[in-house]
Amino acid sequence: MHIVITENDESIWEDETGVLYHFPKRYLKDLQPGSSLIYYKGRILNKDFSAGRLSDAPHYFATARIGKIYPDKRSSKGDLFATIIDFTPFKEAVLAKNENGYLEAIPESKKSNYWRYGVRVIDQATYDRIISHADLNQISEPKQIYSPDVELNDTENTLESSSEGKASTRFVTTYERDPKYRKQAIAIHGASCAACDFNFGEFYGEYAEGYIHIHHITPVSEFESPRKIDPETDLIPLCANCHSVVHRRKGKTLSISELEVLLKNTSNK
Ligand SMILES: [Zn+2]
Ligand SMILES: [Zn+2]
Repeated sequence: MHIVITENDESIWEDETGVLYHFPKRYLKDLQPGSSLIYYKGRILNKDFSAGRLSDAPHYFATARIGKIYPDKRSSKGDLFATIIDFTPFKEAVLAKNENGYLEAIPESKKSNYWRYGVRVIDQATYDRIISHADLNQISEPKQIYSPDVELNDTENTLESSSEGKASTRFVTTYERDPKYRKQAIAIHGASCAACDFNFGEFYGEYAEGYIHIHHITPVSEFESPRKIDPETDLIPLCANCHSVVHRRKGKTLSISELEVLLKNTSNK
């Protein structure tokens, strides 16, 4: 199945281009894991967004695939999130309409409001036609493959474990700090600590809303070979305290169940 998904410059949905697509359940039937998709933007409505677009006119700007689908835990209406994988931006806009007409074939039944659909199912021929006009940037997601050589130079969310006053060791992996995986992991798991349930927003209020550390469950040394990260199974939200404790001892990362044993023992006292 092939689809076009619309991304508006201003939206009530928590979309993150190339990372997450947030949608109402009526689109669920059209968003199958693994589906190829093309990103689309309609005509510009607010010129302030011009610099962030490839064109002010309606256009396509990237390809990607749907990863997996997850319920939005905060939604009472059954909204969902799709993780986006293999995001590949176009070098230039592919205009939705050229001298021969629209690249998308508009079905008769949807003629009056076709462009209002945020998700549009297209056939293989339409997909190929749009792609044939695109110059694909071949820089798609080098970070998706784990490399032990990646330099850690961003201090945001970087913790250090220290023991007995000696030089501390950096441990936080690239994935724990990669904004893309952070956002996917928080959409999937929520922003409360998976071990002790601490929630920064609830405790400190709106100022700290959404803050959480993302912990990489599989220790880096146990990655046998480069592989794709799965934010559902590889990443977990932990509060700053729990995260510090799992990395307390050099050369040993506590599992979440080991951490839960510690928490249980202390709360029994
Ligand atoms: Zn915690
Ligand atoms: Zn960690």
